Amino acid sequence: MNIQLLTQKIPVGISQCVMGDPVRYNAGHKHSRVCTQLLGHCFDYVPLCPEVAIGLGVPRDPIRLVKSDPAPDAEVRVIGVVDPDLDVTQPLRDYADSVAPELQRVRGYIFMQNSPSCGLKGVRRYLPNGHGHDSDGVGMFAARIREYFPHLPMEETGRLNNSEIRENFLTRVFAYDAWFRYVEEDPRPARIIEFYTAYKYLLLAHHQVKTRELGRFIADARSHDAETFAFEVRGRLMEILAHMATRKDRTNALMHVQGHLKEFLSREEKAELTQLIEDYRLGLKPVSAVLTLLRHYLPRSPHHFIHSQLLLATEPAEMGLCDFH
Ligand code: SF4
Repeated sequence: MNIQLLTQKIPVGISQCVMGDPVRYNAGHKHSRVCTQLLGHCFDYVPLCPEVAIGLGVPRDPIRLVKSDPAPDAEVRVIGVVDPDLDVTQPLRDYADSVAPELQRVRGYIFMQNSPSCGLKGVRRYLPNGHGHDSDGVGMFAARIREYFPHLPMEETGRLNNSEIRENFLTRVFAYDAWFRYVEEDPRPARIIEFYTAYKYLLLAHHQVKTRELGRFIADARSHDAETFAFEVRGRLMEILAHMATRKDRTNALMHVQGHLKEFLSREEKAELTQLIEDYRLGLKPVSAVLTLLRHYLPRSPHHFIHSQLLLATEPAEMGLCDFH
């Protein structure tokens, strides 16, 4: 299986205010140039504003998350700040239910942080008396979307200003998109094994232990029914990729690739490659330098396994999507 990661722009959901549309409660926006200009090169956005969609209007009085009491499992509702009788909990959930069918086609979602509707985590929560309680809330709309699509790559717009987080998000979106193009239509175990095999070294760069666990699970495919098996593998793949690739784990994965190529290299070439990987491990060289050299030697190997490795595919960083000036 030779997986192409970016064949055309990938549909990605996004909080509408992040696109620069003046839909916030104060008629302002939260335009992110990183999202619209940089990531816009590879994402085809589906902008949604749940608060406008449920008829709150622009401008509008703000809303917030309110816990019924301080107990950990107390109910959380979305209540008006000015008018505590305004409760939009159910309308926000209903709106998520209504757009879920359309969102089947998105392969990622970028949410606006700190919003009682769109925040993915860390949203401020209050008690009924108006006192602040904690910052452990999730926006009501975002939470419902996560229930529908538990493996969908999601990120908050502010975090995407960090190039490593951005690279990780892109890697997850590309993988999720590739899964739907190569596996979901035809989720036979043999195809899932091929998909995992192509991702193997990239997964190792993100989490060695969980990748080996996934390998053992996949080897036991016959113990599971096909649908459960595909769902579980997709979930584990996305969970592994959500771990940030560390320099140590990436070095290990690069050395695995080197191991496949060394029989085709001269002694001097081997020494140069070993030194380059060591320089990467020490932080002296970027991973792109190692990948470029590995790709240069790749045609010498006749083995499909190593040619299929997505670790060697063009990295988001190399596509210019991780450096923003
Ligand atoms: S955070 Fe969500 S609900 Fe608030 S303005 Fe942006 S898109 Fe609309």
